[in-house]
Amino acid sequence: MTTLVFAETPQLAGDLVARATALGPEPLVLALRPADGRQVAADVVLAPASGRAEDVVPALAELAAERGADVVLLAATVAGREIAARLAMRWGAALVPEATSLALTRGGGTAERVVHGGAAVQAVAWDGPVVVTVAPRPGPPAEPSRPAEVVEIAADARVTLISREPLPRGEVDLADADRLVCVGMGVRAEADLALVGELAEALGAPVACTRPVAEDRGWLPSDRYVGISGRHVSPRLYLGLGVSGQVQHAVGMRGSSVVVTVNSDEHAPAVTDADHAVVADLYQVVPALVAALRRRAAR
Ligand SMILES: Cc1cc2nc3c(=O)[nH]c(=O)nc-3n(C[C@H](O)[C@H](O)[C@H](O)COP(=O)(O)OP(=O)(O)OC[C@H]3O[C@@H](n4cnc5c(N)ncnc54)[C@H](O)[C@@H]3O)c2cc1C
Repeated sequence: MTTLVFAETPQLAGDLVARATALGPEPLVLALRPADGRQVAADVVLAPASGRAEDVVPALAELAAERGADVVLLAATVAGREIAARLAMRWGAALVPEATSLALTRGGGTAERVVHGGAAVQAVAWDGPVVVTVAPRPGPPAEPSRPAEVVEIAADARVTLISREPLPRGEVDLADADRLVCVGMGVRAEADLALVGELAEALGAPVACTRPVAEDRGWLPSDRYVGISGRHVSPRLYLGLGVSGQVQHAVGMRGSSVVVTVNSDEHAPAVTDADHAVVADLYQVVPALVAALRRRAAR
């Protein structure tokens, strides 16, 4: 059985090699040449003209085929996920993204992965070659003990990188918030956000939302929604207003210290999962809270 480890950075190599070694014989370690040209601890160093997946993947697929690999293991970083998916297609292998456990059998293997935002564990099995990604665990880079074979890779001339610009960041970074007011679809009209804004101001908290409030109704920018596909937040106080607490949302706010929710449905997951729940109409609760906070501030 032959395992190839592909480490995008020297910091990711140690953990990947340890995991691959636990699966069987010593892995063949492939690494990208660091931008500063430093020596890295690897058997083969890929030196692509660019770091783009389009350039790296054909060389990886060729090496995997040439060395008769059964498994290629990568870290599930942003780049690693893209490279893994392209590599599986090109090499004709199965793909197991973000495995939490991994076992190899004769000619195949089995793995587990967490799905549905942490609500379930999926067991998968495959036959033939496979590309597996695992959660990245950076550590100190190992010192190179022997010279590596260097493979120079030309750029794919069919694709030209014209420019690269970071996405503009909104004026509010929810990740830093100490308190958060989060609105859900229980808020009936966009104009009612003014009322929520009064409460948020009295609490000194930014306003976040659930995905449909941002993506379907467009009431708040998409960098304000919390959840599996949105922002992950960990305020001391999370106050949900008309939020049902579906798992895709809950995954993003599980790090909150104290969760308070206002919902008219006593069976909503947000109510049963909260530290403190007010089962009532938010249109009665919010003005009462604003008035109480203002009275307190005036004292
Ligand atoms: C692949 C995928 C990814 C997703 N990612 C995310 C994500 O990252 N973040 C996210 O938020 N969602 C995400 N979703 C959507 C998610 O499944 C839910 O649909 C969404 O979170 C529900 O939003 P909500 O709680 O605002 O609305 P609803 O589920 O419609 O809940 C509204 C709540 O308001 C209550 N309510 C109504 N009127 C009042 C009132 N007057 N007073 C008090 N309470 C009231 C209701 O009882 C209800 O519980 C994702 C879905 C999919 C399929």
